[in-house]
Amino acid sequence: MATETIPKKTVIICDVCGKRSDEPIDDFHRNDGFSTKSRFTLMRTRLDEYGVGVADASVSRDLCDQCAEELSKVVNAWAKEKEKAE
Ligand SMILES: [Zn+2]
Repeated sequence: MATETIPKKTVIICDVCGKRSDEPIDDFHRNDGFSTKSRFTLMRTRLDEYGVGVADASVSRDLCDQCAEELSKVVNAWAKEKEKAE
């Protein structure tokens, strides 16, 4: 009987658009749309009537470069619009 060893492979997947890359994670010269480690996290805690935290309501997404850039533009535009209104 012959055996074959298949090396483990790590695939990075954007949580939003599904873009995938199997380039080595520690490659600093990547050109696969994952040149930054981008994670969007909104930390929220649901409170009860006494103001005590009762549940995690956080949202977190790992993003490719393009999705991170789009999210950054949306957040900045939203914040500027809100600041103007106040
Ligand atoms: Zn993406």
